[in-house]
Parts: sequence; C-alpha cells; structure tokens
Amino acid sequence: MIAELAVIGPSISAIINHGDPGDWRKRKIVAERDTESVAVLALQGDFEAHRRMLSTMGIDSFEARRPEDLQDAAGLVLPGGESTTIWKFFESAPWEPALQRLAAAGRPILGTCAGAILLARDVANPVQKGLGLLDIGVERNAYGRQVDSFIGEVEAPALGGELPAVFIRAPRIRRVGGGVEVLATLSGEPVLVRERNVLAATFHPELTGDPRVHRLAFGELIPRRQSA
Ligand code: GLN
Repeated sequence: MIAELAVIGPSISAIINHGDPGDWRKRKIVAERDTESVAVLALQGDFEAHRRMLSTMGIDSFEARRPEDLQDAAGLVLPGGESTTIWKFFESAPWEPALQRLAAAGRPILGTCAGAILLARDVANPVQKGLGLLDIGVERNAYGRQVDSFIGEVEAPALGGELPAVFIRAPRIRRVGGGVEVLATLSGEPVLVRERNVLAATFHPELTGDPRVHRLAFGELIPRRQSA
C-alpha cells in the first residue's frame, strides 16, 4: 500500500496545490465526447487520476471545463482538490443549473473528498455553500493537523468487505439525511454514502487502483465484454 503511494504522488500534489488552478487554459480541450462518455470536472484537483481509473474500466471520459460540457455527459465525477477554489469557478459561470440538471436526469454522479463537499447540503469549518445534491452535512479538514492525511481500510460490506482508502485533508460526514445510504464506514463513521444516483466518498478511491467505488457509480457504463 505504501509503495502504491509513490505512484500517486502527482495526484496528491494536484490536490494539495489548491491555490493554483494550473495551466488548463493552455491545454488542448478534448472534444472526443459522446453520450456514453463520463464528464470529469477538470477545473482543479486530481481529475486525471479519475480518468485513468475510468479508462482501466473501459469507460470513456472527457474533461469538463464549461457548464455546457455537461449537457451530453453519461455521468460526472467531481474530483478531490480544494472545494473553495472549485466554488470560485462555479460562481464564474452557470455551473449550478447544469449540475442540477444532470442530477435530475438521473445520471450517475461521484464526488470524492472536495467533490463530496461540493455535493453536500451543509458545509462547515468554515461554512460554505453546498450544491445540496446529497442530503448530508460535512465538516471540512476534520481529521486535525496531526493525521490530516492517511491511508486506512474502510469497512464496506456493500462492496465485499474492506476497501483501501486514501484520506487527504478529508472532510467528515457529520449528518446523514433519511434518504441517504451509508455504504462504507471508518471507525463507525460514514465515509461513502449514496442518495439515488449521487455517490460521495470522503476519501480518494481513484488513488488506490481498486475500482469498486467507480464500478458502483458507473457500472452500468462498463462495456458488456468487460463487465461479464
Ligand atoms: N480539504 C479540501 C477541501 O476542504 C478537500 C481535500 C481533498 O479533496 N483531498 O476542499
């Protein structure tokens, strides 16, 4: 597990270097999308690691950088990063209606760490807006300075047992609404939750090579020859 961390170093730095949205404006915008392709929000954070994971599962993805990119998406990943920075982007263009539409259309949505914070109804520490697509309350950076990043095994009976999980300046889910299923826990606390088509993990399933969380979210999009 520790050895695997060396491989995920660049992804971790994409999460931790939160102040700088990077040079994405200079990069070529990938236009290879179609209705079978999952949008990966690529404003900031470790979106590339999610694309790699989806690709190993045989699922096409593309980088979403404008609200209109979500229009034909088969699903959406909101990656880890810095939720405050991502909100600045959200407020600079009509992202909110585009995200609400995608959720209302029943498309699978997976938010990881900062992505889970974005999806939540209530956000604390400090108080921040949430999309409210998932009826949970979260506290940001809630594991404290000493252990703000760690690798753990979470209990995920719904996914066949223990699941390796990387926590990086992770939030804690402090409230779970009535319609929300808890799918994994760490020391008895929820870390993976789902409400209808919206799934959120406070950890980074894209960084361990274990595809179970992505499969749970996007399993219906795996080409038949691979899922058989
Ligand atoms: N601490 C970040 C936030 O509050 C989340 C960190 C992460 O996505 N790994 O937005």
